[in-house]
Amino acid sequence: MQCSKALFLYRYYPQYRDPLPPSRQAALNRGHDVGVLARQLYPGGTDATLGSGPRSAEAVERTKQLITSGAEVIYEAAFVYQDVLVLADILVRNGEAWEVYEVKSSLRTSLSNQQDAALQYYVIAGTGLAVSELALIHINGSYVRNGVLNIQQLFKKSSVLAYAQSQFSNIAARIEEQKQWLNAPQIPEVKVGARCFIPYSCDYMGHCWKHLPQPSVFDLAGMSRADQEVLYAGGIHTPEQVPVSDEMPPLARLQIATRKSGKPFVNREALRKYMATLSGDLDFIDIENFQPAVPRFSGTRPFMALPFAYSLHRRRQGEAEPVHLSFLAEPGEDPRTEFIVQFLAHTAGENLILAYDISAERYSLQQLALQFPEYAAEIKQRLDRLRDLMQPFAEGWYHDPAQNGSISLKNVLPALVPELSHAALVIKNGSHAMAVYDQLHLETDMFAREERKDELREYCRLDTLAMVRIFEVLEKAAM
Ligand code: SF4
Repeated sequence: MQCSKALFLYRYYPQYRDPLPPSRQAALNRGHDVGVLARQLYPGGTDATLGSGPRSAEAVERTKQLITSGAEVIYEAAFVYQDVLVLADILVRNGEAWEVYEVKSSLRTSLSNQQDAALQYYVIAGTGLAVSELALIHINGSYVRNGVLNIQQLFKKSSVLAYAQSQFSNIAARIEEQKQWLNAPQIPEVKVGARCFIPYSCDYMGHCWKHLPQPSVFDLAGMSRADQEVLYAGGIHTPEQVPVSDEMPPLARLQIATRKSGKPFVNREALRKYMATLSGDLDFIDIENFQPAVPRFSGTRPFMALPFAYSLHRRRQGEAEPVHLSFLAEPGEDPRTEFIVQFLAHTAGENLILAYDISAERYSLQQLALQFPEYAAEIKQRLDRLRDLMQPFAEGWYHDPAQNGSISLKNVLPALVPELSHAALVIKNGSHAMAVYDQLHLETDMFAREERKDELREYCRLDTLAMVRIFEVLEKAAM
């Protein structure tokens, strides 16, 4: 539904699809695992796709056989109607009719989820099967694990039957429209734009966007996709071509100005004032969290952020190189107590603590203070010392043309300190680090496990070393 070209490419040119980033693969794995877990709500069923694969006509035949032979519960039930194949996660017999459940590994359901379920209903009902219920099963965010996992409390159900019934004629029309898209003699010509991001980032951007200049107007900071599309459609393709106006977001104005001048912009007075507040020895800190969808430890909720690692570079006045300290929790164990103990020991004293975008670090520490009141006073002392190294970039006191409007550490670092980069690391960003740690407790190969742990440590180490080097650039710029 997002784009006729995407559907065409998906059907006929799968080789043009972008490689899955690790964070997306992790989300897919999570969806699969949660789907399998949700089967325990309706145990004893048969997987209709076992041994045949989801696309096979065998799965459809097997579903038919299971229905006629009196099966009570079917997983991955496959149906085809009007050439559309759907797989229902869980099908449950209810007298003469069937209940259809679609499992989502999220706390809330979206319009896309409802549309997805409505298509399933259209196809399943179209085959002649009576459907008495259609519901989305998703994760209950208020469930708190207490000992053994309680599957009934972990999941919530939301009926979407009425919605699906209201969509019947829409879906029929869309199927016809999409068949026409697929019958096109060649790849449809569709201009890139906001549609490539809504509701999801399209999997074919590598193919469709390769002709765009780097950077393009779609990289303009703080500007809506719709506004970027208007510029692009009007023949304005690069930030340098954009006429600056007062209505533009301040960061976009800075981005355009520095791209045109080719020089960094420095508000020396504001930067000086900021740097003057950061005297003495300084601790540069980065905390990594992971968020298991299914709570693994007592006292935790679904998707609760659990800090599992930190890196700390201590810059002592008068010393050329910073000292490095770090912590990485043993995978598979509740990391929080050990994290707190190590963190408090490493950050004892009065040094100011700098994080890059402190919102995540502050939130992690605040949550730990709430969960472990015995440490709350000491954690609060660390929170009072916390300062944000992102502030000069967020306020626009410093902007390098190579930042290209971004204030993220991953873009500020190569702009200000090109010799230091995440590009050479195995783990290149926080979501990848989270995904690696999340799965690490399942790694049985001791050597592979240690290798992943080293990669995680290296990723964290670079983040805080990057902060030290960025701080040094700001120090010079403020002089
Ligand atoms: S990248 Fe954009 S234009 Fe290309 S297929 Fe995807 S949504 Fe369509």
